[in-house]
Amino acid sequence: MGGDRRPDRHPSFVHEPPTDPHLDADRRWMEEAIREAAAAGARGEVPIGAVVVLGDRLLARAGNASVAVHDPTAHAEVRALRAAAHAARNYRLLETTLYVTLEPCVMCMGAALHARVARLVYGCADPKGGAAGSLFDLASDQRLNHRIAVTAGVAEDGCRALLREFFRTRRVPST
Ligand code: ZN
Repeated sequence: MGGDRRPDRHPSFVHEPPTDPHLDADRRWMEEAIREAAAAGARGEVPIGAVVVLGDRLLARAGNASVAVHDPTAHAEVRALRAAAHAARNYRLLETTLYVTLEPCVMCMGAALHARVARLVYGCADPKGGAAGSLFDLASDQRLNHRIAVTAGVAEDGCRALLREFFRTRRVPST
């Protein structure tokens, strides 16, 4: 194979870390989602938070509220999408990014698909229920009429720590 290994031959390949143009903004918005998650946890809800962003504008933010409002659909993502659609006066949320601390479930991916969300950014994966690549991959299922670009693992440790702490304090010792 090629013997020419001069570093100036392919300068873009020389120890250049992959750059993601979204990364700074993604981290910043995920911090907002984490804030919502923490607030939800303080209310006794599973600590998951979500924000919906259009360009550099926050459309909506929400945390889980299923316990408080007795509603199995009151996940952070659904609540944030609903509020964003109200704010935009449009049930289609074209060009938006949904940030959520935990990989969305089937219901929430369904809602994001209906809203035509362009991007999903999540913190930690949910192997037991995640529908954006873990258990199901509704983000890129060719049988559906919309695709959502997914970025996983943004502020993953912070997102996971909230959930871990929440369930640790609730766990009943097994006998
Ligand atoms: Zn959900």
